[in-house]
Amino acid sequence: MSTPIVRRSPTHRATVTATVGLTPRMRRITVATEAMRGVSLRPAQDVELHLREESGRRVKRRYTIARARPDLGELDLDVLLHGDGPGSRWGATAAPGDEAEFQGPRGKLELRPAPWHLLAGDESALPAIAAILRALPADEPAHAFVEVTDATDEVAEPVTWLHRRDAPPGGPDVLEPALSTFPLPAGDGRAYLMGETRAMVALRAVLEARGVAHDSIFVKGYWNLGRPDRLANRPPR
Ligand SMILES: Cc1cc2nc3c(=O)[nH]c(=O)nc-3n(C[C@H](O)[C@H](O)[C@H](O)COP(=O)(O)OP(=O)(O)OC[C@H]3O[C@@H](n4cnc5c(N)ncnc54)[C@H](O)[C@@H]3O)c2cc1C
Repeated sequence: MSTPIVRRSPTHRATVTATVGLTPRMRRITVATEAMRGVSLRPAQDVELHLREESGRRVKRRYTIARARPDLGELDLDVLLHGDGPGSRWGATAAPGDEAEFQGPRGKLELRPAPWHLLAGDESALPAIAAILRALPADEPAHAFVEVTDATDEVAEPVTWLHRRDAPPGGPDVLEPALSTFPLPAGDGRAYLMGETRAMVALRAVLEARGVAHDSIFVKGYWNLGRPDRLANRPPR
């Protein structure tokens, strides 16, 4: 029997070149590597960072390429400081000169032409939502709803902010009324739902009930309430 060929994407070694606080809970970490010089990226692609749990176990965490400067081999990763996971910790502590390892870019989202686009998600999806909004053609209207804690999480992006305030993150209840009542323009538009996995699946049903075709809704789970992502928690190979 022949041995199956396992193709692994290469690991890139990068250096943190800059950090800046975008909000009290979102920090932009810029990493640079020769491997990203001249790279061609699709909107909202991401990298899989190699990180360590406090126990020392190696894990991966995915972060969207918020902005890139291929002439310099630089990627900006906007990391939400939500708590105490390895990703959040890296976002809080990364400093210029640190080494970073990642695989990617990865992500297969294709922006198809449509008469309108509707985007929704939580703050972990803000880098992706902003990148998609920038990439959509100017003659295709787009509207985005982003759930955040409160006004301190807001940045200068053309989205409608929805505040969860004291409610815990990770449920559909803050975005649901907006998606239920937003006046959908005529024609077969496209929707993009990115955030906590089960919340986004629940919101898909809201849009389907309004007549948006199943295949016209892109759903991506970015995190899982109450537990680290099982796949992301596999050690890097
Ligand atoms: C394709 C893709 C792109 C992504 N891009 C970004 C990005 O650009 N910026 C970004 O900040 N995140 C992004 N994420 C989400 C990020 O990978 C997850 O939030 C990840 O779980 C963070 O890892 P952690 O080590 O901090 O927490 P984990 O160890 O995974 O989880 C620890 C605890 O924190 C909770 N938790 C995890 N994420 C969140 C959250 N967002 N809000 C509240 N609680 C949370 C978990 O439920 C768990 O209880 C992306 C995910 C995917 C799949």
